[in-house]
Amino acid sequence: MPSKIEKYEVAVLGGGITGSSIFYVLSKYTDIESAVLIEKCAELGQINSSEKNNSQTLHFGDIETNYSFEKAAKTNEASEMVSAYLKSAERGSAKIFSKSHKMALAVGEKEVAELEKRYEELKKIFPDLKKIYKKEIGKIEPNIVLGRKENEKIAALYSDNSIVVDFGALAEDFALKGEKNREDFKIKLGTKVVSISKVEGGYEISTDKGTVFAEKIVVAMCSHSLMFAKKMGYGKDFSILPVGGNYYTSQKKVLNGKVYTMQSGKLPFAAIHGDPNVHNEDETRFGPTANIMPFLERNNFSTLWDFVRSSVNDTKSFIALLQVVTDRLLFGFLLRSFVYAVPLAGTMAFVGLSRKIVPTLEYADFKKGRTKAGIRPQLVDNRTGKLVMGEAEIIGEDMIFHISPSPGATVCLSNAAKTANKLMEFFEGKRAFDEELFKKDLSSK
Ligand SMILES: Cc1cc2nc3c(=O)[nH]c(=O)nc-3n(C[C@H](O)[C@H](O)[C@H](O)COP(=O)(O)OP(=O)(O)OC[C@H]3O[C@@H](n4cnc5c(N)ncnc54)[C@H](O)[C@@H]3O)c2cc1C
Repeated sequence: MPSKIEKYEVAVLGGGITGSSIFYVLSKYTDIESAVLIEKCAELGQINSSEKNNSQTLHFGDIETNYSFEKAAKTNEASEMVSAYLKSAERGSAKIFSKSHKMALAVGEKEVAELEKRYEELKKIFPDLKKIYKKEIGKIEPNIVLGRKENEKIAALYSDNSIVVDFGALAEDFALKGEKNREDFKIKLGTKVVSISKVEGGYEISTDKGTVFAEKIVVAMCSHSLMFAKKMGYGKDFSILPVGGNYYTSQKKVLNGKVYTMQSGKLPFAAIHGDPNVHNEDETRFGPTANIMPFLERNNFSTLWDFVRSSVNDTKSFIALLQVVTDRLLFGFLLRSFVYAVPLAGTMAFVGLSRKIVPTLEYADFKKGRTKAGIRPQLVDNRTGKLVMGEAEIIGEDMIFHISPSPGATVCLSNAAKTANKLMEFFEGKRAFDEELFKKDLSSK
């Protein structure tokens, strides 16, 4: 091998919140001697992790009515780690997060009954969660009650412990701390991975800026991870249903905290919600809508071909995707969402939907405020033709591929710990992960 090729024990490919948190955890809690984080953009956390592209919610599982009881408990554990990290780094980190309150709002008899039932289950995991009704809701969020029909029943699950996060800024924080922690941990920005090939003792990673060698690889490119997995001969049983969508921003402050609406447990997407922007609480964002689009990255048309290579590369994948989108529940949901994408009429229709949260909203509130959300890479199991809920990892020979739809940013640290453990298996005892210290540092208890 030519000597000028840089060599690392581990290469983490993709500098969003997933890759950056892994890079940080490896630097602080393992004795891995050298690692590189490779990111194609000029800055870290600019794709799905960017605050513009996601809902900025640290999901605890208490107000996400589409989560099962088990998923709520697991997400709660994972979010506590990020919360502990943010609190420990609080000094000087004001631009990364803010604190707020949050609620899941039920509107009408049926939803209120469902919410009351859910509360009875959830209070075992979330003892501080409160069930509140119209009068109390009105004190916390006056605009939810203002202009609402007198006889419309509403209730909410309420918590005053919510954290709003700029996950892009958090990704940068993790990566820079990782680089600072260890001399031989390097970040390469503006460097696009073109291909990966197996060589003796590891892998050669070809980028548009040259080649590097790594013994073990973590691919954390979100949607693009599956494309690389397939190129390496893995992940053949999966494809990606890319779900984009939009947010609508009101330039005036209409909500004081996060307000989620009720969602069916059969759908992987959180229902629309309204909340103040992490960096400007006078701006209130509603959304996201959910539209299927054949791209792996928003605003990047060249990723159409990447979508084809990762998800419609054979008949089985194509049929599985078709099965998923024609499922009655999902089809109905996506069809309704498609309406919101139509200019003018769509915005008007979305105002109607958002009035479930704030009844006095007008078209003029959203007139100039439609922005594009990122892409949620919903994983499809080609064998069953069904959606796989949540994030996924594909394990190869000395390689791990991460695909992270929501709540991928929330679970970044628990995911990083899992990855560190898997890498230790690859190293077969040569390297160690101090999981005890990791847990001690990142436990909120
Ligand atoms: C609309 C929406 C709302 C969401 N809301 C929430 C929320 O409220 N809370 C939550 O927890 N999660 C939320 N999510 C999910 C969350 O945003 C993602 O799970 C998370 O950002 C994924 O992080 P990532 O690092 O895996 O991916 P990304 O942030 O997309 O990072 C992947 C990185 O890989 C890089 N890359 C790709 N290809 C290459 C290449 N060839 N070479 C080098 N680099 C490459 C990209 O440039 C990118 O920086 C939401 C997602 C969406 C789309």
